[in-house]
Amino acid sequence: MDEMDRMLMRAPDAGAAMNIEKDKMKCTECGWIGTPAMTDKVPDPRPLAKFARDIWHICPACRTPENFRSLCDEPGCEIEMSCGTLTPDGYRNTCHRHAPGPK
Ligand SMILES: [Zn+2]
Ligand SMILES: [Zn+2]
Repeated sequence: MDEMDRMLMRAPDAGAAMNIEKDKMKCTECGWIGTPAMTDKVPDPRPLAKFARDIWHICPACRTPENFRSLCDEPGCEIEMSCGTLTPDGYRNTCHRHAPGPK
């Protein structure tokens, strides 16, 4: 393999400090996977004057409000987050399988 082939094989973001899917989450109702930026937001419809009004995240696929689980930030992984690990590159939220550190 020559040098050019090696260059083309590199992922576009190879060498980036973090190659993770941060804030990935899954709708427990329909299985939709996305990030908080992709949900629809509506004000909490319960009029509780004592409390500041909250914003609900609504699943864009099935319209279920506030029914998400945070997922492992490993790209492609759909397992629920269970480990938080501070790494030299930043904070990772992963499933137990993808937790950084010694194997
Ligand atoms: Zn959904
Ligand atoms: Zn994982």
